[in-house]
Amino acid sequence: MRQPNLFDDAQPSEPSRADAPQPDQRPTREEREALLLPIREVALICTRCHLSESRANVVFGEGNPAAPLVFVGEGPGETEDATGRPFVGRAGKVLDQLLRENGMTREHVYICNIVKCRAADRKDGRWVNRAPSTEEVAACRPWLEQQLQAIQPLVVVCVGGPAAKTLIKPNFAITRERGQWFTHSPLAPYITAILHPAYLLRLHGPNGDAARQQCSADIGAARRKVIEARRERKEAAPPPEPPQQSLFDA
Ligand code: URA
Repeated sequence: MRQPNLFDDAQPSEPSRADAPQPDQRPTREEREALLLPIREVALICTRCHLSESRANVVFGEGNPAAPLVFVGEGPGETEDATGRPFVGRAGKVLDQLLRENGMTREHVYICNIVKCRAADRKDGRWVNRAPSTEEVAACRPWLEQQLQAIQPLVVVCVGGPAAKTLIKPNFAITRERGQWFTHSPLAPYITAILHPAYLLRLHGPNGDAARQQCSADIGAARRKVIEARRERKEAAPPPEPPQQSLFDA
């Protein structure tokens, strides 16, 4: 179902020629969906690294393919691997709640990960999650890059330190640098990081409450950053062409 555009701060303004509908050069939602489809199809049979041997499902990503705001986490856990959907376990429930607190649902954003397959080791007869290795992250990067090229977000939010170290800078310090804005990324005009919801689940008491509030506020700031980036893009756009006088007008 189509959602209202939450990222539009449109103020009522005097109608003028500049407000007249302009041909939109940016791909539509349907066009972006069509761009993502073949990328997804190939990613679903990817064997670029050993994670393909133990996965149940490739967790490509989901949400609105035209979303100006994309969340990029670390990688699928057990529930994500079992369902093929990102952030559907306990951490995902927290992320959903944080989005809701900021007036958003998954349909307003796009959610994916730096690696698309679960990183886990077999210990005492069961699979135990681990951080993806540098090689696994590098092997998976083309999928993320193609995905973001199709979506063309204005704002990317790295969910947790590993995503921020991969997409912002290798020495990113999540507790110190979360909520800061970076503008050097080829992936999006604005990129930032938030605390990972799985980390929030491990914190208790006043520290836990404060970290959760901080994370919610950072997501709210990301939503506002989209509005700012849209305004900047509009201001930078060339003025509309004046209507051509027809040679055949009387
Ligand atoms: N944690 C992540 O980083 N990604 C998921 O998809 C789920 C949990």
